[in-house]
Amino acid sequence: MSEILYCNQCQRYTIHPVCRICKGKTVSNKPARFSPQDHYGKYRRALKKETGKN
Ligand SMILES: [Zn+2]
Repeated sequence: MSEILYCNQCQRYTIHPVCRICKGKTVSNKPARFSPQDHYGKYRRALKKETGKN
């Protein structure tokens, strides 16, 4: 099973150690670590659930 890696430059997930788009190094995505994007996503989902809007 491949490790999920993340490119900070392109802000997208990949399985390649080097980003295919910007040729930059990708990093391991550790869910327990500080992640503002995931934090906002959690709020957005909660809000969506309450309002029922898209
Ligand atoms: Zn990239």
